[in-house]
Amino acid sequence: MNEIGTLYIVATPIGNLEDITLRALRILKEVDYILCEDTRTTQNLLNKYEIKTKTMSYHAHSSEGKESSIINLIRGGKNLALVSDAGTPCISDPGVLLVSNLRKEFGNEAKVSPIPGPSALISAISASGISSAEFIFLGFLPHKKGREKIFKEIKESNKTIIFYESTHRILKTLSSLDSHIGDREVLIAREITKKFEEFVKGTSSFLLEYFNNNKDKQKGEFVVIVSPL
Ligand code: SAM
Repeated sequence: MNEIGTLYIVATPIGNLEDITLRALRILKEVDYILCEDTRTTQNLLNKYEIKTKTMSYHAHSSEGKESSIINLIRGGKNLALVSDAGTPCISDPGVLLVSNLRKEFGNEAKVSPIPGPSALISAISASGISSAEFIFLGFLPHKKGREKIFKEIKESNKTIIFYESTHRILKTLSSLDSHIGDREVLIAREITKKFEEFVKGTSSFLLEYFNNNKDKQKGEFVVIVSPL
């Protein structure tokens, strides 16, 4: 019987295309296929490093059929790399189900290997000056159901809280933080590793005013860090 293939979980840049490890580049060159959240986004990276490996799409809406054909490729001995649009796959990104099903299918024989690299979560906390001794990562906050409850939980927690936020909801989120957590310090990491990277710290009412007063600063990608009590 064939030896089964490996699924590599490959971290890719979160903005600056130079942020990719030598090992990630080698693996992306060597595998049989690269599974991409969006093949066009990943193609920019592959073009920059002259990587010609075939790509296949794998995203949040991929069917069960797609997943079983991926598992069959691995069963047949093919090596695959999983990438998302940016950062580390499976961290608020597609891939968890595939890895979980692969582990179910092959048990402890499954070969899933991480190729570590950028993640907005780790980049933000590393440059924040806020303790990461104990932190809670919430991913994206719920848009509607459970949102109020989450802010109450943030208020009551004495740990560092980190979550992802988009341009569409940053003001709404700062306003909710303002009504729930009062003067506790918050840090916003925006556009990390990109041209308009900035880290801004203050109370949520200060940050609300800061971002409200400047439409350009409401654009981009955000990590929100609430300081511990
Ligand atoms: N898997 C990715 C990772 O490891 O960072 C996260 C993917 S998640 C779908 C995308 C969210 O991550 C964005 O909405 C934003 O909150 C955060 N993010 C990604 N890149 C970022 C950047 N360059 N600066 C700030 N936040 C970023």
